Amino acid sequence: MSATYVADASVFDGARVRRHRGVLVVEDRIAWEGPHARAPREARSARAVDGAGRTLTPGLIDCHVHLCFDGEADFAGEAAALSPALGAIKATVNARRNLERGVTTVRDLGGVGTIEAARAIDDGRVPGSRVVPAGRALTITGGHGHNIGVGREVDGADAVRAAVREEIRAGARAIKVIATGGVLTPGIGATFTSFTPEELGAAVDEAHSWGFGVAAHAIGAEGVLQAVRAGVDSVEHAMQTTPVAAREMAERGTFRGPTLCAIAGIVDHRDSVPEYAVEKALSLVDDAQRSHARALRAGVRHVCSTDAGTPFNLHGNGPEELIAMVAWGMPPLTAMIAGTANGAELLRVPDIGRIAPGFAADLVLYDADPTQDIEALRSPKMIWKAGARI
Ligand SMILES: [Zn+2]
Repeated sequence: MSATYVADASVFDGARVRRHRGVLVVEDRIAWEGPHARAPREARSARAVDGAGRTLTPGLIDCHVHLCFDGEADFAGEAAALSPALGAIKATVNARRNLERGVTTVRDLGGVGTIEAARAIDDGRVPGSRVVPAGRALTITGGHGHNIGVGREVDGADAVRAAVREEIRAGARAIKVIATGGVLTPGIGATFTSFTPEELGAAVDEAHSWGFGVAAHAIGAEGVLQAVRAGVDSVEHAMQTTPVAAREMAERGTFRGPTLCAIAGIVDHRDSVPEYAVEKALSLVDDAQRSHARALRAGVRHVCSTDAGTPFNLHGNGPEELIAMVAWGMPPLTAMIAGTANGAELLRVPDIGRIAPGFAADLVLYDADPTQDIEALRSPKMIWKAGARI
C-alpha cells in the first residue's frame, strides 16, 4: 500500500485556506485532512513531503480545451489537416502538457479522436490529465465550426436530440452547442444568434436526462441570454454579457467561462493570425472586459476555461487563464475556487476539485500561496494525479 503525507502545509481545500494542516494520501485517494499537530498514526509510516511554508491545492480543472489542436496561428489550416488518428495522438500529447502544469482535469469541447484519447488515459495506456470529452460540437448548418471535423451540423429539435444521443453513444460525457457565430470561422459574424430556443432546449433536456452537462459557445448578447434561458450549464466566451444575462446567470447558477487566453492569443499575435480572426477578436475586447466586471459584480460563478488549442493558446494555460481573470478584477481566492471546486461541479465529477477525505488525490504543491499571489500557479513544485507523483 502506498501512502504519502504532506506535512504542515497551508491547504486550500477548494473553498478556503487553512494553515498548518496535514494531508494523508493512501493509494489514489485522500484518506485524511486536518491539523498537522493531530496527524493520524498512519502518517508516520507514509512517504513524507515537507509542506512547511508551502500551499497544497486541488489539481486545476480547465473546462474548455481542444486537445486535438496545438494552437497554430492558422486554426483553419490546422483543422484541415486533422484526422481521427492524428487527433488522438495530438490529444494524448496535449493532455500530458496540461498535467505537467498542474491541470489534472480538462473538458474537451470539440474534437476528433479525443474520446479515444480520454479512454487511453483512463486505462493507463498513456499519461495525461483526466479528460471529460464532448465529442463533436453541435452547430447549425453553415454555423461556426461547420467546416471543420470537430463540428457537426444539425437542424431542428428532433435532429438535435438525436445528435446528442449519438455523441453520448460514441463516448461523449458533456455536450457542446454553438449558440452564436464565432471568431475563428472565416466568412461569418462572431455575434449572431444560432439555434432556436427549441433546439437548445432539446439539447439541454436530452443531455441532462443522461446526467451530462451542456456547454454553450456564445459570444453575442442575444445568444448568451438565449443559452442561459435554455438551461445550459456553462456559457463559454460570454463576451457580451448584459446586465439581464448576468443577473439570470447568478440566479440560475449558470457558470461563465470567459476564455481570456483565447482572446489574448489572437490579439497579441495579430501579425501572424489570419486577419478575419484578428478583426473580430479586436472588436470584442472592450465588451469582454466590461462583461467580466459586470458578471463579477452580479455574483456569477466562474470556471477556468482557456479554449486551449486556439491560435497561440497552448495546452497547460489553465494557470494563465486564472491569472488573467484576476488581472481583470477577480479576487485570487475566487479564481482558485473557479479553477477547482466550480470546475468539478460543472463537469459533474463529484470526487475531484476539493481536498477532503474520499476525494481523488489530484494535488498540487506550490512554494507560494496562489490565493494570495495568483502568479504562484506558474511554478508548481509537485503534482499528483490519483495519488501518483508526476
Ligand atoms: Zn472552444
